[in-house]
Amino acid sequence: MDKIICVGKNYLKHAKELGDAIPEEPIYFLKPPSVAVSIESPGQVVDLPAEGDIHHELELVFKVRARAGKFEFSHFTLGLDLTLRDLQQKLKKLGYPWEKAKVFKHSAILGPWQELRDLDSLMQAEFTLKINGQLRQHGQGRDMRWGPLATIKDLQQWFPICDGDLLFTGTPEGVGPLVHGDRLEICGPGLDFTLTISRQNA
Ligand code: ZN
Repeated sequence: MDKIICVGKNYLKHAKELGDAIPEEPIYFLKPPSVAVSIESPGQVVDLPAEGDIHHELELVFKVRARAGKFEFSHFTLGLDLTLRDLQQKLKKLGYPWEKAKVFKHSAILGPWQELRDLDSLMQAEFTLKINGQLRQHGQGRDMRWGPLATIKDLQQWFPICDGDLLFTGTPEGVGPLVHGDRLEICGPGLDFTLTISRQNA
């Protein structure tokens, strides 16, 4: 993996809940592999920075397979693109890049990888995030403004795409804060995993 590519504002209702203008073309930002954490055991504790208003963004994530200049998706999972929302809003207002709000320890949480067999049916399937037993986010890939295949095609004019790169495809509405002790359950096709948030260590 060379990088984690994220699509911003790929679901209309989420762009609206942020109060942002609706972009006419896809918005991308990158995270380095060093901020990723994989959930490998039930209830795994994920350490996050103690300070700041960290929001969860539940997203379908794809792993890119690159062969002879062609790109496809070998695997998918569900993940969380974490965002320091207060810092992001401040940087946006100032017209600065909001990288600091997106790149911090464990800001890309990844569930277990599933082999991708049928993209069409995956895009119809519902995925959900519960926090402490309450439903916080749910969505379906079909509501994306730019689907994963259109995105990877568009991306090629901007970035070199490498084998193993990850694509976070944007979040449906319902983003909100994560606090110490939150217990998260993430479900989708072939996926059901839990993790616990720790925000005690800086
Ligand atoms: Zn996101």
